[in-house]
Amino acid sequence: MPATDPTPATPAAGGGELIRFDGVTKRFGDNVVLDHLDFTVDPCKHVTLIGPSGSGKTTILRLLMTLIKPDEGTIRVAGDYLTHEEKDGKLVPAGEKHVREVRKRIGMVFQQFNLFPNMKVLRNITEAPVHVLGMDKDEAEARARELLEMVGLSDKADAYPTRLSGGQQQRVAIARALAMRPQVLLLDEVTSALDPELVAGVLDLLRDIARSTDITMVAVTHEMNFARDISDKVLMFDHGRVIESGPPEKIFTDPDNPRTQEFLSAVL
Ligand code: ADP
Repeated sequence: MPATDPTPATPAAGGGELIRFDGVTKRFGDNVVLDHLDFTVDPCKHVTLIGPSGSGKTTILRLLMTLIKPDEGTIRVAGDYLTHEEKDGKLVPAGEKHVREVRKRIGMVFQQFNLFPNMKVLRNITEAPVHVLGMDKDEAEARARELLEMVGLSDKADAYPTRLSGGQQQRVAIARALAMRPQVLLLDEVTSALDPELVAGVLDLLRDIARSTDITMVAVTHEMNFARDISDKVLMFDHGRVIESGPPEKIFTDPDNPRTQEFLSAVL
């Protein structure tokens, strides 16, 4: 892989956790999806969230992307509250400007790629750096070309997304997320919409990025081999709670919780 450097522009404040959930509860009507959830992710680590469908994994990513808000609890990213801000020494719900600033530290790759269909590949990648970060257009384009080289799509800069395969679109989506130099990359089932023959290429690319950069990753995945390969830590979810967590060698070979054992024997 070429020596493109998608490392974060700013290090984690204080060298502590990069992500911290304290007592986060999320309900949809009567459905308590996350129940007083506490968890942390250290900088430069790769964490995967596994567990049965409906256990709340994607909700965590959506909270981090501020697509939804928690009903209770706080979320911090690199030491700053994402959900709140401090005003006159008090913690109050975060305003839009504050949320936008903290959210810049987070990039996300979605199941369905979510590229802008009316923009060529290069513009898909430069759009947010230019309009959100205020990056100079030439600089953004130079970086976008480096990232396209990294994801193996140098020749597709002028193509429209619909002309690309699902695997290629997902590579562009990965380049687009990295173009913002996020401190953390969220991956939401990034291969589940791909034809089976395209899955391995995208997972290999993510493995390369995990190994060759110090970006922090939080991945929701059903790809247990990928989880085993890239993770420093695996969190097993059930009904909105972390029922077991640990290094992949432990979780995948000798889990303590019978629910983890049951889940893994069904999916492995
Ligand atoms: P997972 O990613 O573990 O499969 P999710 O976080 O997607 O689980 O969903 C957890 C629960 O929250 C599910 O019961 C789901 O139906 C519910 N849910 C998620 N989003 C919404 C929503 N926007 N409105 C109502 N219920 C939702």
